[in-house]
Amino acid sequence: MTTLAQIGVAGLAVMGENLVLNMAGKGFSVAVYNRTTAKVDAFLAGRAGGLPITGHHSVSDFVQALERPRRILMMLKAGEVVDGFIAQLVPLLEEGDIVIDGGNSHYLDTVRRGEELHRQGLRFIGTGVSGGEEGALRGPSIMPGGDVSAWPMVEPVFTAIAARAGNDEPCCAWMGGGGAGHFVKMVHNGIEYADMQLIGETYQIMRQLLGLSAGRMHTIFRDWNSGDLSSYLIEITADIFDHREPDGSVLLERILDAAGQKGTGKWTVAAALEHGIPLSLISESVFARCISAQLEQRQHASQILRGPDLPFSGDQNHLIRDLEQALYCAKIISYAQGFVLLREASEQYGWHLDYASIARIWRGGCIIRSIFLDHIADAYERLPELENLLLAAYFSNRINKAQTKLRNVVGLAAMHGVPVPCFAAALSYFDSLRSVRLPANLLQAQRDYFGAHTYERTDRPRGEFHHTDWTGQG
Ligand code: NAP
Repeated sequence: MTTLAQIGVAGLAVMGENLVLNMAGKGFSVAVYNRTTAKVDAFLAGRAGGLPITGHHSVSDFVQALERPRRILMMLKAGEVVDGFIAQLVPLLEEGDIVIDGGNSHYLDTVRRGEELHRQGLRFIGTGVSGGEEGALRGPSIMPGGDVSAWPMVEPVFTAIAARAGNDEPCCAWMGGGGAGHFVKMVHNGIEYADMQLIGETYQIMRQLLGLSAGRMHTIFRDWNSGDLSSYLIEITADIFDHREPDGSVLLERILDAAGQKGTGKWTVAAALEHGIPLSLISESVFARCISAQLEQRQHASQILRGPDLPFSGDQNHLIRDLEQALYCAKIISYAQGFVLLREASEQYGWHLDYASIARIWRGGCIIRSIFLDHIADAYERLPELENLLLAAYFSNRINKAQTKLRNVVGLAAMHGVPVPCFAAALSYFDSLRSVRLPANLLQAQRDYFGAHTYERTDRPRGEFHHTDWTGQG
């Protein structure tokens, strides 16, 4: 009698292969399938050798190789491919079987797929898996959501393969129903965009304004990595500054400044617009990638549009210290915005997201891992209903003290013509949030003037709407 595998994985590209090896390394027996069957054979003959992994050339053999209720993790190209594979699976499955989508699917697709599978007696989990190739193999951060009745069957596998952080805690936790897992992963990716852009703007100031060498930037980032900013992204940035070509030149300076993107940042911004939540740092970081990709237009414009021709005359070391603090402040603001978006979606969809738990599972395995996340977890543990991270005592104290550094950096960059869209967005959000009075009264007056859209008055109860005949012409 053949022994049935405990879990099936469909899709043997970078993520799938490494997750399978991670699972098998933790003692789980895994059945694998891939559309291009040569990849199954190559995997079995290569990296999977000697491990409890069986390979299958047809979806039906794959499904039959699994113990019941079946647990099938799809690690496929996101989009229609996932729907196509589910359509192949469904006729072969039995009531209660569990289909898991571990790709970067859009959360609304996950909601739809979950409902469709539920109607067919099947259970669906949409899970974020973060950490790329290395994370998949050694321990990713895992953000599952969907049909909670399936979670006890999946939890032992996910908990075993997840990264560890803090006190050996697994970086995996149930997020909530419907598309909660993929929504949280999407916001995670958006935050990653802003973290990277802020580091990029810091580099631009160091290079353009201060004229620092890659060697000096390497040392600064290495030092920062042992302070408040300690994180994977600061660590790899220090490494990047140190990476040289065989001829001794710095590789970074030869890399074309045109950024790519796969779309999760754009999705996060679209969700923020949909929910009416200011997400200015992530938005600016998506647009910064867009303008970077407009190489020809930038080259043309650089010959026509003039900026200030002002050499830096301040104290270099002073500005470098300010940059560290400014980066920290802007990071707080970016995460604050991201968590406000999570909060809004959680309320709207009834997910009951646990923000402390989200911050904790991002501490290991994923690209945004940092010691900073411990403070976010603490803030939400103290006050789970905190409306904005900036209002938590730890963060408000930090930012109240360091905001002058952020102002100094944004001001200097503006004076010297260095683009810092994310730093500037951070400062604008901070100043807007702490403003008792914004100019929206004028905006409301204009709207009422040209469109009779009405306005509320400061001297009357909220919800009472007024209209003025601004021109006296009826
Ligand atoms: P991928 O390049 O996104 O997808 C490749 C897999 O999809 C292969 O198994 C491929 O099979 C299969 N596939 C493509 N078109 C297909 C079709 N028409 N029918 C059936 N199968 C098809 O692989 P990946 O980079 O490993 O990512 C997998 C998922 O994880 C994606 O959703 C990705 O966004 C997400 N993710 C990736 C990373 C990362 O760092 N790469 C990190 C986190 C999450 P064939 O071999 O037959 O082409």
